[in-house]
Parts: sequence; C-alpha cells; structure tokens
Amino acid sequence: MLSNLAVRDIETLVHPYTNLATHREVGPLVLESGKGVYVYDTAGKEYIEGMAGLWCTSLGYSNQELIETATEQMKKLPFTHIFGGRSHDPAIELAEKLKEIAPVPISKVFYGASGSDANDTQVKIVWYMNNALGRPQKKKIISRLKGYHGVTVASASLTGLPNNHIDFDLPLPGIMHTSCPHHYRFAEPGESEQDFSSRLAAELEDMILREGPDTVAAFIAEPVMGAGGAILPPEGYFEKINAILAKYDILFISDEVITGFGRTGNMFGTTTYGMKADTISLAKQITSAYFPLSAVMLSEQVYDVLVDQSRKIGVFGHGNTYAGHPVGCAIAVKTLEIYQREKIVEHVRKVSPTFVKRLEKLGEHPLVGEARGVGLIGGVELVKDKQTKAPFEAKKGVGAKSVVFAQEEGLITRAMGDRVAFCPPLIITEAEIEEMFNRYERALNKTL
Ligand code: PLP
Repeated sequence: MLSNLAVRDIETLVHPYTNLATHREVGPLVLESGKGVYVYDTAGKEYIEGMAGLWCTSLGYSNQELIETATEQMKKLPFTHIFGGRSHDPAIELAEKLKEIAPVPISKVFYGASGSDANDTQVKIVWYMNNALGRPQKKKIISRLKGYHGVTVASASLTGLPNNHIDFDLPLPGIMHTSCPHHYRFAEPGESEQDFSSRLAAELEDMILREGPDTVAAFIAEPVMGAGGAILPPEGYFEKINAILAKYDILFISDEVITGFGRTGNMFGTTTYGMKADTISLAKQITSAYFPLSAVMLSEQVYDVLVDQSRKIGVFGHGNTYAGHPVGCAIAVKTLEIYQREKIVEHVRKVSPTFVKRLEKLGEHPLVGEARGVGLIGGVELVKDKQTKAPFEAKKGVGAKSVVFAQEEGLITRAMGDRVAFCPPLIITEAEIEEMFNRYERALNKTL
C-alpha cells in the first residue's frame, strides 16, 4: 500500500534518473530527516546513507556549524550576484582558500551551481580560448566511455553512458569517447594493469592522430569514475595519459566533482593519481551538499586569454545568476574550515583500510565478481559466473534488487547496472563502516 505522500509524489513529480514506468508502481522512498551518517524516512526507519546522498554529504546530516553559517549569511545578505564586477566577502574568501589548496597551479576561480554547469563552463572556455588564440579548428574534446560529467547539453555529451545520449540527439559533434579504463571488465585475458593502461594510452593516441592533433583541444576524466560504476583507474593509467596529452598540447580537465575534498584519501583525486591537470571542476563536497555550488579552477594562461578577449570584444558573456551565491560560498568556506580543523583527510586515511578490507571481503560472496575501493569510495560488480566474469542479463536487474534488499536492511546505496557503489559521508566511523557492510552482506544473501 502506497502512503498518501507516495501517491501525491506519483501524481506530481518527474524524478531524475528514475525508471518513470516502474516508479508509478513502486513509488518513492520519502526521507524526512538525518543525523550523522544516518537518514530517516517518514515512518521513522533508519538507514545508513551509504552514498552520502549522491557522493556529496561529506560532513553528514545535521551539522550545526553549517546550519548556523547558512542562517547567519541568510540574515546578513541572502543574495547578491557577482555579475558586472559586483562581489562579496564569502566569494572572495572561498576563492582564496581554493587557490591555497588546489593540487595544480591555479590563478582564478569561476563559480557555478552544479557539477554539470561547471563542466559546461569547461567546454565553453576551451572553445572560446581556442578561437581567441586564432586556432578555431582546435575544438574537439575527448572523454571516456562510462565517464560521467553531467546532464546539460555539453556535459551530457561528455558523459559516456547510453541513457544520457539515446533519443536526446547527443553527443554533440566534436565530442568523442575513448575506452573505459576498467581492468576487470575490459582487459584481455592475462593482461596486466600496466599493459592494459599502455593499450588504452595507445588507443587514445591513435584517436588523436586519426582526428588530427591540431583539432583536439581537451581531454576530460574523473580520477575515479563515479556514476559509470565506481571504477578505479588501473595502475599506470594517468601517468601514460599525461604523457600523451602533453605530447599533443591537449588540455587536461580533471572532473573532481565527486573526488574533490578528501574522498580518495587526499584532498584531491588529481593528487592520488598523479594527474597533470590544467583545470579542475569542483562541486558537491565543496559545501558538503548543504548548498548547490560549483567551481572551475582556471590556470593563469587561460585567465590571461580571457582578459585579452575582454580587451578586444568586451564582456565575458558567460555565467549564471547564482554563480558565487553568498550563502553557498559562506557554507563552503565553513566546510573547508571544518575539513581542516577536523583533519578530515587524515580521518579518511585512518578509516579507509577498514572500508577497503570490508569491501574486498564482499569479493568472497558468490555473487560478487569484483570489489575494489580507495579512500572512502568503491564498488562491487555482481556477476552470474565468478570464473568467467559472465554478467547477468541486464533485464534481471540484479544490482537493483540487491539495493532494494539493502534498503530493507537499513542501508542506502546505489546500483549502476550490476555495479553497486559505496561512498559514505567522510565522517563515518570504523564501527559504522562495519555496520554498513554487515547490512549489505545480508542484502546480498537475500539476492542470491
Ligand atoms: N561530474 C561528476 C564526476 C559527477 O559525478 C557529477 C554528478 O554526479 C557531475 C559531474 C554532475 O554534477 P551535478 O549533478 O551537480 O550537475
């Protein structure tokens, strides 16, 4: 029996990333409150938020300092834009702090409201910059199959997942996808991680040569693939990719929308994987998800080109109303202060061995083919045959079933096909990690 709220939901909402047909029968999970790593539904049932919302509530729920900061800023100045040279203290302070902690040399920060619009900004700046530099043919952008970069027209084009393209008439021309670096699924039999990485780097180089290096402007990658299935890069991958990009003067965009701010055991995934990025997209954990905010970190070279363009054509014609929203910026400043004061990166490093050990132990389960994690992010792949790695037929929805059973057991996690992700709030304790995996083990036993 669906609750009154569930019926009203079905009558009124189109949910993002939801099977809209089955939703009409199943209805929503209606959450009402949260505390620490736990959330509670309208019946008072408790769940461990094993996905930190959508890879974002790093400091958990009911963080009083963030709530007070938001309230204070709301009272003082709930809104001012930063168009036309207007500014405010939280926007400036946040940009200073981001520059201080950036893992690559950064000159300026450009704000937005979502990970998608941050990546759209990246695409637009690449195009704008290359026109300004008198090389209008250098516009193509290479992304990766199973990469996830958002849903706006350009960022959905960068995304390498079929459901983001089919019948949306995407990807845009000039945005192409190279192979997914998932060793478990795509390596040849007996191929080492290093050899697999070399093969993918060679494939990228072939694509660049086929297209013409003077037409390829940028390459975009997440340090750890999130929505593609919580996939870690194979050994040596980014080192080899760095070399190819440098060889052909191709800009490297690191999409740190989920890996930014401690998730992989360093402040940035770019550091964890030695990515020689030119620019970085940030969102989500920048405010611990207490406010929608994104930031694109720009190099001196790119900034200089933008300023030169303004000398020639005037206004830099890009940016949205809520860019640098004062409440979001104030919350982000406080979030970064808490990360530092509470030594959140050190905490992730301390609890990560328990997380990874329990995740890898899931690999012993008859349904689990691969189980792999870093920091506090990881995924398992459910397979029909562990020996041959044969997957289940997609329509069986085995991953999704395990997530429904997990929900019964009091755990929220997320299935992407038959890959199931774990990405809890960064404040999670070792005892809570144990409990999270105990709940998922019980769910898997029901899925069998
Ligand atoms: N980039 C990455 C790596 C993401 O994981 C996401 C969202 O999950 C996005 C971009 C898009 O962010 P948003 O949903 O805030 O637009």
